[in-house]
Parts: sequence; C-alpha cells; structure tokens
Amino acid sequence: MNPIAKEEPTTLTPADCRQASEVWDQICQVLSVTGHLFLFSDFDGTLARITPVPADAAIEPLALAALKKLTDEKHVTIAILSGRSVPDVANRVGLPVIYGGDHGLEIHGPDFNFVTPGAEAARRTLLAFCNDIRKKTAEIPGTLVEVKSYTASVHYRQVPPDLVPELSLIVRSSVDPARFEVRDGHSVFEIRPRVNWGKGEAVRWILDRYHAADDQAICLGDDETDEDMFQSVRTGVNIRVNRPPETKTSAQYCMNQEHVYAFLEGLRDLVQGVSCASAVNTHLQRHSIHGFAAN
Ligand SMILES: [Mg+2]
Repeated sequence: MNPIAKEEPTTLTPADCRQASEVWDQICQVLSVTGHLFLFSDFDGTLARITPVPADAAIEPLALAALKKLTDEKHVTIAILSGRSVPDVANRVGLPVIYGGDHGLEIHGPDFNFVTPGAEAARRTLLAFCNDIRKKTAEIPGTLVEVKSYTASVHYRQVPPDLVPELSLIVRSSVDPARFEVRDGHSVFEIRPRVNWGKGEAVRWILDRYHAADDQAICLGDDETDEDMFQSVRTGVNIRVNRPPETKTSAQYCMNQEHVYAFLEGLRDLVQGVSCASAVNTHLQRHSIHGFAAN
C-alpha cells in the first residue's frame, strides 16, 4: 500500500461545495464503468445524531432502513468506520457489513479480522494513561473518559466551557507524546497510538483487499478524523457532513445530516440497476434535493 500523503485540508467555503447533481454524475460514471461501489461511512454525527452522552447514540431509523436495503445489493460494499470499538458500533448498526473500530485500527469483515500492527502493544499503556486522566479530572464536572479497544476518548460535551482549556492541558500532559497523539474532535479529545494508521489507511486497506480503485469509494463523515478518508481517496466521492462554515475540508461535497438518509436511498436506487438518469430524476423529485446545503 502506498503511504497516504497528508496535506493541510483545502479551505473551502460552503458556497464552494459542489452540487448534488454533480455527485450523482460522478457516481453514475464510476458505477457504469466498474459495476461496484464502496460506501465508507462514519457513525456518530453521520448515521446517528450527536447525543450529550455518547452511550445514548443510536442509528437514525431512516439511515438504518436505507443501509439495510443497500446490504442486499451486490453492487455495493459497505464499511462503517467509527471512533467507537468494533463491538460497540456493530451493536448499534446490527447489519452484516464491514466494521472499522478505533478509527480503523481494527477492521472486521465477513471473512477477515485485522488489527493494525503496534496497536495491541499500546493497549496496556493506554489504560494507565486513562486511569491517570480520570484521577486528575475528578474535579472537572462532565468529563467522560472512554477507553475503547485501542484508543480512548475524553468527551467534554457536558463540561463547562471555561474548564475545557484546563481539561485539554491535563489530557495532553498525561500521555506520552512519543507513543500517543491527541486529536481534537467534536467536543472530544481523541487519544490514539502513533502507529501511522487511521480511517484513511483503513479505507485503502479495504479497497486493496477487494482489488478496487480509489474512485470506487464514497466517503461520508462529519469530523476531523474523517478528513483522513477524504485525503486517502481524492478521486472518490468525498462528502463532509454538517460542516461548520469555518471548518476546512478536503471533501469536494458537503451535506447536512438530514440529507444523508435520502442520499443513501438514492444510492440504493442506482445500484439496483435502474438507469442512472431515471434513478437520479426519481430521487431528486422524491426528496426535493437539488443541492447539498452546507451549514
Ligand atoms: Mg462523526
């Protein structure tokens, strides 16, 4: 596998996001040439709404219904890539798809299980760091330290905003920077082993396994870790969900979360084998989506 060149995300305003009609054109073209698509989707904030407590998140019924229909189609392979552990996200989706947990460090498929080399060794150290963070943040109300299989998340959705800088300092000073990195997400600090592997590498690994090309990928995600996917398959269809106007992204398309479900339905129409033109027209009329609105 070729190393993924990490670049600073391109600065695009919401007005720069390409239109829905163009995404369908691109997807139709790839489908007609290759006959197969790979859908890579994030979970929280993309298929499930963000909740004050992460444990309460559930897949949106419309997303579940659309994904369920897609799993029956032979022309699409689905992978859910999440910051959650594989068992956690698999339990919340409950469909026979590929699951990538801990930001892709672990990947489970119908006939394979993969763990990134180096991730296992970091596991015990991670537990010690997280116990330390728990002790140091006992006085910061609302802090939630979540240890997953190979990574950890320190959530601060319920922490008073004036205490977040202190929490950030504690988290960053508690981990060994030579072995772990701390990345910012939506109201969360993500602690990950420095194994040079993320969602982007997971996407490439899955595509390679199926001998598929980059342009067969459709990537959906709402957070900074999803930018790794967008940068790994620049010729694919990359869609940043619920992008705040000031956020940089490498995705060429933007979409509000409410439109994700309709998008998945439209995708199903395409892979069902109906002509691209009629599927797109039906989809646009049904959902009145003529453009992807960015937040
Ligand atoms: Mg997300």
